[in-house]
Amino acid sequence: MLEVTPRTRLTRKPDRQVTDRRMLHEILDAGIVAHIALCADGQPMVLPVGYGRDGERLLIHGSTGAGLLRRAAAGAQVAVVVTLLDGLVYARSMFDSSMNYRSAVVFGQTTALSGDAKLDALRLISERLMPGRWSEVRPPKPKELAATLVLELPLDEASVKIRTGPPSEDHPDQEDPLAWSGVLPLRAVADEAIAAPNVRPGVATPPSIDAARARVAAIDGTQL
Ligand SMILES: Cc1cc2nc3c(=O)[nH]c(=O)nc-3n(C[C@H](O)[C@H](O)[C@H](O)COP(=O)(O)OP(=O)(O)OC[C@H]3O[C@@H](n4cnc5c(N)ncnc54)[C@H](O)[C@@H]3O)c2cc1C
Repeated sequence: MLEVTPRTRLTRKPDRQVTDRRMLHEILDAGIVAHIALCADGQPMVLPVGYGRDGERLLIHGSTGAGLLRRAAAGAQVAVVVTLLDGLVYARSMFDSSMNYRSAVVFGQTTALSGDAKLDALRLISERLMPGRWSEVRPPKPKELAATLVLELPLDEASVKIRTGPPSEDHPDQEDPLAWSGVLPLRAVADEAIAAPNVRPGVATPPSIDAARARVAAIDGTQL
């Protein structure tokens, strides 16, 4: 269960708050991009990053030169959000129109990883983002590892909010009963892979591309 804390409690539509920890895992495993936010000298900052989940921790990586990540590594409180957009909800008024989604917010403090823990975390992030690719290419060089910051964020304080289904009929008496309303489902699609210009003739598309296709298909929440 996810404990609801003063900062994870939904103010509006509290019925959309989901406290099942498995749903948090499902959203984090389906997502590809997280947005990480923190406050630096009174200035809010937010950046998109790739990430991976390992058990009850979120793993984030980036350049040691990245300002926001350096601040996070130094102990700043962060908020991380992952959003899966499942549809556009067309109500009979713009006011009641909405979106179908699954989203998760995680609060906390990150720890920078080093040594074997850092390498393991990088492999895990890679397996989440591009399954199978780690073993298809050479291992990271010490110089590359030195230029990479890897942060761990425990999934101790998190909220999940989910909207599914048709438009809410909150004001039926004020709406045109003949107007169309409903949902336009949206999902991620992986197109055909495009080989780089320097790929030699005869080099086949690797299995990791098929694995990525399956991973993207798993984001689909249009049947919810
Ligand atoms: C794709 C998408 C589009 C959206 N579009 C809009 C929009 O256009 N306008 C709008 O007002 N709202 C929109 N929302 C909903 C928005 O994210 C908030 O849920 C909403 O503003 C109400 O927040 P609140 O007052 O309940 O929570 P707040 O009081 O603002 O926040 C309290 C806590 O609730 C939790 N929380 C709030 N929202 C979420 C969430 N979405 N996911 C996980 N935890 C959450 C967080 O832990 C947060 O700290 C959208 C959500 C998604 C995922």
